[in-house]
Amino acid sequence: MPDRAPQPVDRQLPTDEARDLISLVRDIAQREIAPKAAEEEDAGRFPREVFTLLSESGLLGLPYDSEYGGGDQPYEVYLQVLEELAAVRLTVGLGVSVHTLSSYALAAYGTKQQQVEHLPAMLGGGLLGAYCLSEPSSGSDAASLRTRAVRDGDDWVITGTKAWITHGGIADFYTVMARTGEEGPRGITAFLVPGDAAGLSAAAPEKKMGMKGSPTAQVHFDGVRIRDERRIGDEGQGFAIALSALDSGRLGIAACAIGVAQAALDEAVTYATERRQFGKPIADFQGLRFMLADMATQIEAGRALYLAAARLRDAGRPFAKQAAMAKLHCTDTAMRVTTDAVQILGGYGYTADFPAERFMREAKVLQIVEGTNQIQRMVIARHLAGPEGR
Ligand SMILES: Cc1cc2nc3c(=O)[nH]c(=O)nc-3n(C[C@H](O)[C@H](O)[C@H](O)COP(=O)(O)OP(=O)(O)OC[C@H]3O[C@@H](n4cnc5c(N)ncnc54)[C@H](O)[C@@H]3O)c2cc1C
Repeated sequence: MPDRAPQPVDRQLPTDEARDLISLVRDIAQREIAPKAAEEEDAGRFPREVFTLLSESGLLGLPYDSEYGGGDQPYEVYLQVLEELAAVRLTVGLGVSVHTLSSYALAAYGTKQQQVEHLPAMLGGGLLGAYCLSEPSSGSDAASLRTRAVRDGDDWVITGTKAWITHGGIADFYTVMARTGEEGPRGITAFLVPGDAAGLSAAAPEKKMGMKGSPTAQVHFDGVRIRDERRIGDEGQGFAIALSALDSGRLGIAACAIGVAQAALDEAVTYATERRQFGKPIADFQGLRFMLADMATQIEAGRALYLAAARLRDAGRPFAKQAAMAKLHCTDTAMRVTTDAVQILGGYGYTADFPAERFMREAKVLQIVEGTNQIQRMVIARHLAGPEGR
């Protein structure tokens, strides 16, 4: 055992209920997720049974209304749950974040009737969601998407291909942004498509650098017919809904990033206090002590930033700028910290015998998803200096 084994993060939580929730999550994480994380990531296996357990434990709808099966938790608490899950396995933490993102459109913009009909199963009934905005030719420029939904009597017929869809091919429901009108952001509408709809199919999952257990796939819509009752919000409102979902989703990515970074720091501290060179633990060398100190400081700053943004959201105040800052800072922090963790483990850090290399591969994707970090900078700058080209 190292002299100073890393302790669980000492979290500031607003209620006893939130403290119990974190204890429950730590217990599930250690018993059900951690033991198989490395092996299943290697094998590219998605742990569906973990998501079923999370749903049964009330952990798949935390920030939503309990009237519809949610957990009534503030974002400040929900995000710390995500951080704990991502620290043991990003496939699970990010999966919960994407599921929450996928449920957002209906929870925030659906009619009462839609919410009563669909939300309980989505938030606590074992279903798994996917969020379909990106396409092969439209990533950062999401408003140029081409998937079309054409009105046919009381139905809509959706045709096109979505790309990079987390849970593509295994999701029970897909929140889909499709073009119903003019070019650009005002011609897009949101729909809730069931996973077993005729004409919906998924390609083989992408072969990714990391997070291999999380299926990411193209999803094809080949004349998928759905009733108008599954349109979310008004015609033409879909892009605004998609962006609003992403403001909250980015906070989830930020929290996951801090979880991965914290796991890498814990690994580095454990290793550095055990490994001896030149007759003493390598943690005694100032060169490494300063690295550990910088890593820990960046993580604390990231956690404080995402929590500050979450508390604004919980108070009903604008938080989009702070969410973009949190996503940018926390994911860049995760990349730096995980890279430094590999360095601290030396040659062993570069092998699959230790989790540091997995954390480094996982961190990279967080700088890309839900708006690359270049796009986050554009969002922040727009809040500071207004839109470009005025
Ligand atoms: C593992 C994974 C899971 C994902 N899950 C989902 C999902 O569930 N649902 C979904 O809809 N999408 C998902 N995505 C897609 C993700 O959101 C996009 O990959 C991302 O938005 C970037 O789009 P792109 O890959 O097309 O890159 P591009 O937009 O082509 O960008 C390429 C490069 O150009 C830069 N760039 C582009 N425009 C600008 C600009 N104006 N200024 C400066 N730089 C710019 C980008 O930052 C990037 O570095 C996922 C992606 C991955 C890798």
